[in-house]
Amino acid sequence: MTSDARPLETAAHATAGPAADGLPATMRAARFDTAAGTLTVQEVPVPRPGAGEVVVKVAACGICQSDLSQLDGHIAPRLPVVTPGHEASGVVAAVGDGTELWKVGDRVVLGAGKACGTCPACRFGGGTNTCENLQVMAFHYDGAWAEYVRTDATTLIAVPDSVPLEHAAVLADAVSTPYGAIDTAQLRSAESVGIWGLGGLGTHLVQLTRICGASPIVALDPLPAARERALALGADFALDPADEDTPARLKEITAGKGLDAAFDCVGRAPSFTQAERALGHRGRLVLVGISPDPLAVGPEIHFVRNRHTVIGHTGYRMEHLEDLVELTARGRLDISGSVSAILPLEEVHEGIRRLREREGNPIRVLLRP
Ligand SMILES: [Zn+2]
Ligand SMILES: [Zn+2]
Repeated sequence: MTSDARPLETAAHATAGPAADGLPATMRAARFDTAAGTLTVQEVPVPRPGAGEVVVKVAACGICQSDLSQLDGHIAPRLPVVTPGHEASGVVAAVGDGTELWKVGDRVVLGAGKACGTCPACRFGGGTNTCENLQVMAFHYDGAWAEYVRTDATTLIAVPDSVPLEHAAVLADAVSTPYGAIDTAQLRSAESVGIWGLGGLGTHLVQLTRICGASPIVALDPLPAARERALALGADFALDPADEDTPARLKEITAGKGLDAAFDCVGRAPSFTQAERALGHRGRLVLVGISPDPLAVGPEIHFVRNRHTVIGHTGYRMEHLEDLVELTARGRLDISGSVSAILPLEEVHEGIRRLREREGNPIRVLLRP
């Protein structure tokens, strides 16, 4: 492990008041005990930046489905106790040695991964984008459901004053992961797309494929409210995947050709099968949602003759996050409707409940520590 394994600073330090670096001694943080399965807001020491690191005062941090997976024990714990939260924005509060690009007061959004430094890709200078053993914030090192978070200087993207920090936090993962999926699909303008599942990922895919010039855009979800939202955000058609004429409608909408690209944000066997069958010649199906379902592509001859591609997608690269800050700053991308609620850190359990129960069909519930 890297510097994250060092013990929390001593009680003597914690009572010493503000140090020379301007950071307070302690802060509030939501700490998840992976063995006990408990999440509690505690007073803990503020992390100090080591060489190449910065400490960011957190402005906002999202609550994501993968946080729930960690809290539910579906993701193997990397640390006995960890601060969750990997969708964060804030203001640089302290910089370590060798971080000349950043200064105290800079507005930033945080990429959620840092390079391991030792895998073959890292040894050949690949860095965060190609690391084979990416260290993920909130899983391998403490995340941002806290007043301060420590991270590598390489994980920061500058946020101009015109972009609210709450919007910047939504860009990290909830928008950047679907944006990366468009890259994975090698989508070109005027190609037809189908988007299965209109939660946070799928709803943002509607907006992003629209920006990228997809035509037509077909959005699919069993919830009428999710379909209406997709139409308002730029989908040309919205279908209920459970309707028996949906496969025929997909053919008709694409003038018999089938889809050029499909995005499965559900990741279950029925959505996969329907999306794969809807692909046209040289169609690509990108899997974004996650489930343990076994998947089957149907008749081999159909898959081969039609030159179909099925591709798994996860996460995003730093340039994706930078692109999205640019698109938001220029007003091309408006994600103001994606901030479903902003809660104080103490109400983290309420935020988790709203996401679990899909109360009000939230896109992103944010914490403001
Ligand atoms: Zn996330
Ligand atoms: Zn590496």
